[in-house]
Amino acid sequence: MIVVTDKSKCNGCHACYNACPKHCIEMKADNLGFLYPVVNEVECVNCNICEKVCPILSDRTKNTHALQIGYAAYNSDEAIRLESSSGGVFTLLAEYILQNGGIVIGASMKEDNKGVHHIVVDNINDLEKLRTSKYVQSEIGNTYKKAQNALKNGKLVLFTGTPCQIGGLYSYLGQDYDNLYTQDLICHGVPSPYIWKKYVEMRETQFAAKLRRTNFRHKKYGWNSFALLLEFSNNKAYEEINPKDLFLRGFLTNLYLRKAVMTVNSKPVTDKLILLLLIFGASEDLFLNLMIRKEHRLYGYIPIKEYSYLIKSRIRWYIKRFLLIPH
Ligand SMILES: Cc1cc2nc3c(=O)[nH]c(=O)nc-3n(C[C@H](O)[C@H](O)[C@H](O)COP(=O)(O)OP(=O)(O)OC[C@H]3O[C@@H](n4cnc5c(N)ncnc54)[C@H](O)[C@@H]3O)c2cc1C
Ligand code: SF4
Ligand code: SF4
Repeated sequence: MIVVTDKSKCNGCHACYNACPKHCIEMKADNLGFLYPVVNEVECVNCNICEKVCPILSDRTKNTHALQIGYAAYNSDEAIRLESSSGGVFTLLAEYILQNGGIVIGASMKEDNKGVHHIVVDNINDLEKLRTSKYVQSEIGNTYKKAQNALKNGKLVLFTGTPCQIGGLYSYLGQDYDNLYTQDLICHGVPSPYIWKKYVEMRETQFAAKLRRTNFRHKKYGWNSFALLLEFSNNKAYEEINPKDLFLRGFLTNLYLRKAVMTVNSKPVTDKLILLLLIFGASEDLFLNLMIRKEHRLYGYIPIKEYSYLIKSRIRWYIKRFLLIPH
């Protein structure tokens, strides 16, 4: 059974939690709010399924730099781009899946804005919950199981998240599905849920109101600035850029990132599509997504082409910087 003694060897992906047939694994928060599995030894039957699905312990996923091709693209709808972190390509992918009767799974702020968790979205109206980066580690909960059920029922599934979460999903599933699409992102690292919660409580006290909406990539100060916008229930708002904002400064100086994300590579090995979406600037007021894919299929039937603009020199720079240099 899983016993986490070295925190740098658990990225919190929840694969063990989803796989345990006796439901005797609880994900418990440490003092920074990062979740780790704790087994109820009385109920455990020592089947070791949890260890087998763990992407770190079992090495079921390995880092790969096998790269086939990259595209730079952005969503031609400016309103969507303004609501997104960069080029808004996530929304294009998600809309395609929903229009074809599928489901999209990704990170959403919790109701009280004090944390982030993965949810299932099955309609376009709810897609805004997944849009834009939330710089807090998202709780996977039982969404791997929900994805597996939908896949078995023949639905299209787009699962999105950090590389560790996508690695955990493939490791949990243990097989590929024709109807599964995954989209991960180049990840700076995930900040502490506890620090975020305390930060929100501090701002709620300051504004004497509840936090209603959060945007970690507010564009008021331009696309190059990291700017945080908080809207409160009394219609007041807080907005500040990095490094003046305390939370952003701590995040971007790596003060409270999860250790395992920084030290363990768990990008999945699969012949199936992997998209890495990331930010890079084409100009002062436009950011693009760079998409790296491992096979041609999706390109064939998502109309990305009409939104695509290839900027070859920038792509080459990014590919070298992020993907081809061995870690
Ligand atoms: C924690 C974190 C660190 C990042 N670090 C970098 C970096 O160093 N360099 C870089 O170029 N890009 C980084 N990104 C990626 C970037 O911010 C955008 O997510 C990416 O450009 C996609 O943008 P978009 O405009 O297509 O879609 P958006 O609408 O902006 O993105 C939505 C997508 O992000 C996912 N997402 C949002 N928050 C989380 C979360 N907490 N955990 C898991 N998935 C999440 C959603 O599920 C959805 O798939 C990071 C993203 C996150 C969440
Ligand atoms: S050994 Fe089996 S029963 Fe025990 S925690 Fe792991 S998966 Fe659950
Ligand atoms: S890395 Fe994932 S599967 Fe492994 S122990 Fe941590 S939460 Fe469980």
